[in-house]
Parts: sequence; structure tokens; C-alpha cells
Amino acid sequence: MSTNTKAISDDTMLIEEAIIAQFGERCPDFDPDCHCCRVWRALDDLRAERAAGAKAIHDAVMAERARIVALLLEEAELTPCGEDAMVTRSNAFLIKADFSYEEAERLSEEAEG
Ligand SMILES: [Zn+2]
Repeated sequence: MSTNTKAISDDTMLIEEAIIAQFGERCPDFDPDCHCCRVWRALDDLRAERAAGAKAIHDAVMAERARIVALLLEEAELTPCGEDAMVTRSNAFLIKADFSYEEAERLSEEAEG
């Protein structure tokens, strides 16, 4: 299980296989009175809800990361000790880069101009 996205797509594929076994492939046109059409629509709705949930979580994580980075950069500006400011600033870049030291270094160089 490498990522959440992979796990989600794998288990809905199992549901899809079960639907095909029980109801067959999708009908060409949606009929609200057809069980086959309704179960396929339910699978589509499940996948859409999961994708929306995963996106909401991702967006919240990115927003929180941006908030922490902004606060650390602000703290670095206010810290009287130059060495502390440097450490605080480099921590901000490390968080912004999702702990990729290479990317954090690049962000740091970019900020220095
Ligand atoms: Zn149908």
C-alpha cells in the first residue's frame, strides 16, 4: 500500500468487478428504474465522494503547511539573534519543501536572491 490514492482505486476496482459479475457492464443510457444503472451510478458517486474527501484533506494539509511556514518566516524576522533567525528560516523552507533538503536548499537560495 504505497499511497492512499492507490488503495482507494484498488478497492473500488473490486467493487467494479463485483458489479460486472452481478449486473454486467454499464447500460449505454442511464435509466433510473434499472438496477444495473443505479449500482453503476452508486459506484460513480462513491468514487466522486472519495476523490472530494481526499482533495479536501490534501487542501487542508497544504493550507496548514503554508500557515506554519508563514509563521516561522515571520518569527525569523522578529528574532533578535541572527543565528536563531537563520535556523528558524531554514526550518520554514524545510517544511515548505515537505522535508526535501534539496528543495529546501533551492528555496533558501531563491529567497536570498
Ligand atoms: Zn441500465
